[in-house]
Amino acid sequence: AALSKTKEVDLPGGWKAGDPVPYAALAKVFALIEATTKRLEKTALLTSFLLLVIRRRAQGDSQSLLQAVYLCINRLCPDYVGIELGIGESLLIKAISESTGRSLSVVKADLKKEGDLGLVAMNSKNSQKTLFKPKPLTLPTVFKSLKEIALSSGHSSQNKKVSIITKLMASCQGQEAKYIIRSLEGKLRIGNAERTVLVALAHAAVLAEQEISNKRSSAEKLASRLEESASIIKQVYSELPNYDLVIPALLDVGVDKLIEVCKLTPGVPLKPMLAKPTKAIGEVLDKFEGKKFTCEYKYDGERAQVHKLEDGSIAVFSRNSEDMSKKYPDLMAQLPSCIKEGTNTFVFDAEAVAIDKDTGKLMPFQELSRRKRKDVKVEDIKVRVCLFAFDLLYLNGEPLLQKDFGARRGLLQEHFQPVDGEFQFAKSSDCDTTDEIQAFLEESVKDGCEGLMVKMLEGELSHYQPSRRTVNWLKLKKDYLAGVGDSLDLVVVGAYYGKGKRTNVYGAFLLACYDADSEEYQTICKIGTGFSDEALQAHAETLKPLEMSTPRGDVKVGGAKPDVWLEPKVVWEVLTADLSLSPIYTAAQGLVEERGISLRFPRFIRIREDKAADDATGPEQIAEMYQRQALAQGSKGKKGKGA
Ligand code: ATP
Repeated sequence: AALSKTKEVDLPGGWKAGDPVPYAALAKVFALIEATTKRLEKTALLTSFLLLVIRRRAQGDSQSLLQAVYLCINRLCPDYVGIELGIGESLLIKAISESTGRSLSVVKADLKKEGDLGLVAMNSKNSQKTLFKPKPLTLPTVFKSLKEIALSSGHSSQNKKVSIITKLMASCQGQEAKYIIRSLEGKLRIGNAERTVLVALAHAAVLAEQEISNKRSSAEKLASRLEESASIIKQVYSELPNYDLVIPALLDVGVDKLIEVCKLTPGVPLKPMLAKPTKAIGEVLDKFEGKKFTCEYKYDGERAQVHKLEDGSIAVFSRNSEDMSKKYPDLMAQLPSCIKEGTNTFVFDAEAVAIDKDTGKLMPFQELSRRKRKDVKVEDIKVRVCLFAFDLLYLNGEPLLQKDFGARRGLLQEHFQPVDGEFQFAKSSDCDTTDEIQAFLEESVKDGCEGLMVKMLEGELSHYQPSRRTVNWLKLKKDYLAGVGDSLDLVVVGAYYGKGKRTNVYGAFLLACYDADSEEYQTICKIGTGFSDEALQAHAETLKPLEMSTPRGDVKVGGAKPDVWLEPKVVWEVLTADLSLSPIYTAAQGLVEERGISLRFPRFIRIREDKAADDATGPEQIAEMYQRQALAQGSKGKKGKGA
């Protein structure tokens, strides 16, 4: 199917082999992708574009494909390098106004009407009379300009950014301005998830290989080959999430050999494996029936992935692949003493937990979160941090992801040593009855933990699966047993002005979940109780700079009507009494019923600085929570109460 659709697509093809890829071709693909909601069609469109890029690249060039892929996912480098787009609305409005000669107020009025700055830029540009046709934009030019913008900092950077954007805008034709402005905003909004790009990349590589070898295979064979290639690339990328390394290798050795050359590498952080919540101890035994499993303390701290590189340097990455070395200079200093002789390169997975300096007791996460994230000086540190290691992913040149968890844990304990108050192995117990699990859970809570993590010990299901949330890791929190259920991580997308003495701050907020498939934020509830005056003040300071005059185009609003809209960026952890169906909010619409799902009596717990907006809880998880609740309550949950 992918091949036949490839032929149907009419892309601006007028670029010769060896020429830089015209940006117009990419803009056209974006427009076609935006116009369809069908995932297969999106994949086919992208495949045909990437195939053209591969076919027409100059010999030995891997940059054009690399830049094409980066622009499709709207990034400029690997996640963990931290060069990000996401230019504020007012700066973009200024640039659009300057480059099209329209006044700021007219551009703002248009934005109010259209709700999409990209569209406003395109319309402004296309209504401008130009005498000369500008020189066409190319992928390398756009990529370089975006990078320059993202990298410029300091006091004159605003002007510099506006001047680069204005220059880009001057060369835009057709739909180009729309996508350039959206890229700069930080979201393309064409419903093109990174997974789709990976699949298209795999398909394009296979089709290009076939063209070169001049082999024709039956439709059936081709389909299975395409499917196989997609799973290879997904696996490779989950181990080595760095296109700068994967794409040149793909062009060099082809899909089949990719797995041999692109492996987990210290220095490139993996997306961590995640856990599914479970509500009852009995459920644990059901899920692991007949299999060997282990229970570990679930420490209440911050995830830390620790890497030792070939060159001997050590790096600590957060759950979000952010480099944490600057936040934890004390950890960096502590680490060498837990490494046994003969342990050279490694990657281990751990939780960093605050502990009391005098008693050595575990302290709750809040203690850790008071730390600054950058430029921390060892002498200013008040709380001590201990690492609790629970998994080993790489050792002395060898990735271990495909080994049983039991074996990985054995190697971890063999190659590292506990150091009091600095480094410990996660406490574990290979329980096998409900009573044993219950006793261990109570012990963990008494020791200051959130509960237990239950993990498969043997067989393929116990292998480490980066970024996957499966039942092979279950989280059993003490709160669940009290019937509260798991917390949600939600994005703040709007705010309501306060009343009375709170008029100068926001008094309530509109929250949303994130659907990675459609790349949209779906509203879920208004949250307004339980905030102290100081907390409201602090939230106002963080959120004020994110104000937008209209909801960003990727927010599925429903009937919500906040006083101001906010750029989706800040993530909050929230607990709820229960979930109900709602005619107003759009979260998980169509998954359980036509109506969306909302939270009743949501309660703010904390800011999740270690999560980006697109790491927020997804609609499937919310639908699952709703259904579990409905099951527990019999038919009561199904009726819903509206919100
Ligand atoms: P999620 O994305 O799953 O919602 P989260 O960051 O909200 O993750 P939880 O769902 O509460 O966290 O639980 C998983 C987290 O628990 C891990 O990311 C890790 O930081 C922490 N953790 C503590 N102890 C362990 C352990 N023994 N094994 C694995 N993870 C642990």
